[in-house]
Amino acid sequence: MKNLKDVKAKIIILGSGTCNIEPDKANTSLLIKYNNENIIYDFGYRVYSNLIKLGFSNENISRIIISHSHPDHFCDLIPFLHSCFYSKNKKKNLLYLYSGEEFLEIINMIRRLLPAPDNFNEIVKIKIIKSDGIFYIKDLKIKTLFSNHSSNISIKFKLNDKDIAITGDIDIKKDNLNFFKNTDICFLNSGKLNINEILNLKKSLNIKKLILLHSYLSIKDTDLLQRDNIIIGKDFQSFNLINFIS
Ligand SMILES: [Zn+2]
Repeated sequence: MKNLKDVKAKIIILGSGTCNIEPDKANTSLLIKYNNENIIYDFGYRVYSNLIKLGFSNENISRIIISHSHPDHFCDLIPFLHSCFYSKNKKKNLLYLYSGEEFLEIINMIRRLLPAPDNFNEIVKIKIIKSDGIFYIKDLKIKTLFSNHSSNISIKFKLNDKDIAITGDIDIKKDNLNFFKNTDICFLNSGKLNINEILNLKKSLNIKKLILLHSYLSIKDTDLLQRDNIIIGKDFQSFNLINFIS
């Protein structure tokens, strides 16, 4: 496996799958590499294993955003935190964990499971996102949108003059999709959407490039979509944010 941990300003797909287990797909997760920050968006099943395959260790992971409290979006936090506090690779640097208020219950459950050591609060800094708005990771300004899907938190930010959006699980019938309008690249958890619904969504929101994650489409659908600058993401695929070469 090519070691990608030293490449800057990239987004790497750590997982592209749904909650349905497949041999070559971890649960949907993205790694945003920016100015020595490794920001992980969602941490579901097999994401930790994929990070290790890419050459990361516990120390390299400094920020985790959990979109919402469904297991396929957070379950590998349990083995990750277990390793951070009880293995030979104990974590000594800070871990910032961003999530909605509901996730506090999951954090408390994990603390009881481990059980969390005395220094848990010294290492893990929990940042609760309470409503639509803005938060910062150093100088990176991140806008948030809460979805009708279990208070899922979508994010949007500008990197290298490109507007990037990451949807997490959204409800396309009820959410304010204007949040994703005119983005240069949008990572969409497309779930059970069919090809026409996806094409319409891209067109109506004027999204330049759409990367489908958490999708139930099969690989044979890929050719149909590629003409419209839509691709079905795969685990370990990486995106250069300047020219979108993957
Ligand atoms: Zn969900």
